Amino acid sequence: MTDQEKLIAKYGNPFEHKSEFEAKWMTVWNCQNEFPSLPFHRIYCHKNLVPELQKVFKALLEKNLLKEIKTFDGCFLPRYIRGYEAKKILSIHTWGCAVDFNAAENPLGGPVKFTELFLQVWRDLGWGVGKDFKRIDAMHFEKTNI
Ligand SMILES: [Zn+2]
Repeated sequence: MTDQEKLIAKYGNPFEHKSEFEAKWMTVWNCQNEFPSLPFHRIYCHKNLVPELQKVFKALLEKNLLKEIKTFDGCFLPRYIRGYEAKKILSIHTWGCAVDFNAAENPLGGPVKFTELFLQVWRDLGWGVGKDFKRIDAMHFEKTNI
């Protein structure tokens, strides 16, 4: 089973039933209340992603790496992966389980401006890191087993 198939089995298909999915699974996390140094206030994401983001931000803060996050560039967006529209492969953003940061300096395909220390914190907590994708997408972090 692909990650997408597992997410559809668990949470439904937001690409086809967006408002139902949003009402049931999405939430606004006021992340700046807990992490005042973040340069943005809130993330609209899957309810089950909040504790995962809390873990990763806490670990980044402890290692003085949270400051690498400069911009929040999106989370929930039901769509196909760019370039895979014909194959109809849904992006993990479809379920609000992926977040993009610092998009301006980490464009699709590279280069990568995040430090390896920063990226390793995400990997160690079980996140998929876009820098590791066959087509580098360094702004992108996803957690599919929520
Ligand atoms: Zn992304």
